[in-house]
Amino acid sequence: MKSRFLLGAALVAAPFAAVSVEAQAVPKIKNVIVVVNDGGGPTVYDAYRMFKGKLPVTSTTKFKKTWVSTHPLRPDSTTNNTPGTDAQDPSVVYDSAKFWDTTPIAGPSTVSGYGNYPAAFAGYEWSRFAHPDSGNTASSLSNGVKTYNNAINVDGSGDPQTTIVDLLQASRKAGKRTGIVTTVEFSDATPSALGGAHNIARANRQAIAAEMFGTGNLDVIAGAGNPDFNNDGQPQTANYNWISQNLWTDLKNGTNIFGGNSWNFRLVQDKSEIVDLANGSVPAPEKLAMIVKAFTSLQFNRSGDTTDPSVPHTKEPFTDPLNTNIPSHKEMTLAALNALGRTSNPKSGKAKGFYLMTEAGAVDRAEHANNTARMLEEMQASDETVQAIIDWVNRDDTDATWNNTLLVVTADHDHVLYGPDADRIPFQGLKSNGVGKTPRHKWFGPNHGTGLVPLYAYGRGADELIALATNVDSYTDGEGRTFGHGNYLDQTDVGNFLKAAVASQAD
Ligand SMILES: [Zn+2]
Repeated sequence: MKSRFLLGAALVAAPFAAVSVEAQAVPKIKNVIVVVNDGGGPTVYDAYRMFKGKLPVTSTTKFKKTWVSTHPLRPDSTTNNTPGTDAQDPSVVYDSAKFWDTTPIAGPSTVSGYGNYPAAFAGYEWSRFAHPDSGNTASSLSNGVKTYNNAINVDGSGDPQTTIVDLLQASRKAGKRTGIVTTVEFSDATPSALGGAHNIARANRQAIAAEMFGTGNLDVIAGAGNPDFNNDGQPQTANYNWISQNLWTDLKNGTNIFGGNSWNFRLVQDKSEIVDLANGSVPAPEKLAMIVKAFTSLQFNRSGDTTDPSVPHTKEPFTDPLNTNIPSHKEMTLAALNALGRTSNPKSGKAKGFYLMTEAGAVDRAEHANNTARMLEEMQASDETVQAIIDWVNRDDTDATWNNTLLVVTADHDHVLYGPDADRIPFQGLKSNGVGKTPRHKWFGPNHGTGLVPLYAYGRGADELIALATNVDSYTDGEGRTFGHGNYLDQTDVGNFLKAAVASQAD
């Protein structure tokens, strides 16, 4: 796998300033845990730090930090079905001079979908134009290759990347247990790409769900998307948007009448059962499906506010009562960890480690709604999850130690969120309103941006991963103002590193 990693990294490095990977070997790593804060760009972390009045867990000294470029293969959202058309469009490749361009632009944004917001500066406009989506970026993290927006582990021409093993396949090949957890629908873009599905479009959700349950490559599938419950955790007329009626029927009945549940997943929906699994008070089944009693998200879409970015969202975080019959991101992640890596679990005992991806998917949903308070709620749930993962690895009765486990916390892409006067002060930071309050800020779109996102790494292999960040983000404008995050690597480099890590086969 080492040679594959070097080859892949060399190819993707071509359009960038050279990424020097050849000097870095990937150490032997037994367990790989990836936390994705969907949409978790730097100003999201700033907002969370101001709200809490303290640093998030990832800013403690255990973690090493770097930055990641997330741009797409090209600025479109469909495959052109033309074999071989996976060349990088240079107009969207991350470029400090384009991203930090402080040239003022009057009037509204001219980028499609952003017209209700001021253009403000050339850099904002380029960030909007060159933005990736979660299918695209999760595919890069999964298989180390750039693709178009909406793709799920297919290349620029829409081909499943059969010649390029994805992170889930690589984990399976190496004899690992595997799982995905999300706070949004289990068959949405991030969990499906990082859970080894392949599709030309993320919208083909029933097919994606069928693949996730059908290959046998996943041992834990966890998230929302439950057909029978609404966003307040209450019964609804069945809605099979995220899973087919046949597969759902087989899961509920513990059967395989319709052929989609040949691996005999055990469906768990009740919060109390998931909490028991999280506590380790009951043994996990070999194949665990935790589809919680919520349709699109654990908490973000609950009543009390709208998802409309054009209306002001004035409530502070946690003003609206939380859904009480839904487990937390932390509880679902602990249940998954116990199923994958608890030494008392016979399957874990025989496995050669595990790979788990756990996503705070509704950070991004709240950003699309420009609902900063609910974004902060989701970040808090994610921060508590990261702390719980650390505590779990530190336990004696798990398969993991910091000598054999790598924890990566990153984002798939950024949004366009800056300070309250950032329409006239370029890239102005957010302003604190005090602890427990939403900071002062301004949204510059209802959709993603292409800014660098943070990556935090802790444990085995963290130093080697951080060392790959040899590009430098730095820009000085005409007025002598300096901008930039410093060293960064590309998301494809992260994906290639993770694939090499799961294949490294520690003892
Ligand atoms: Zn999004």
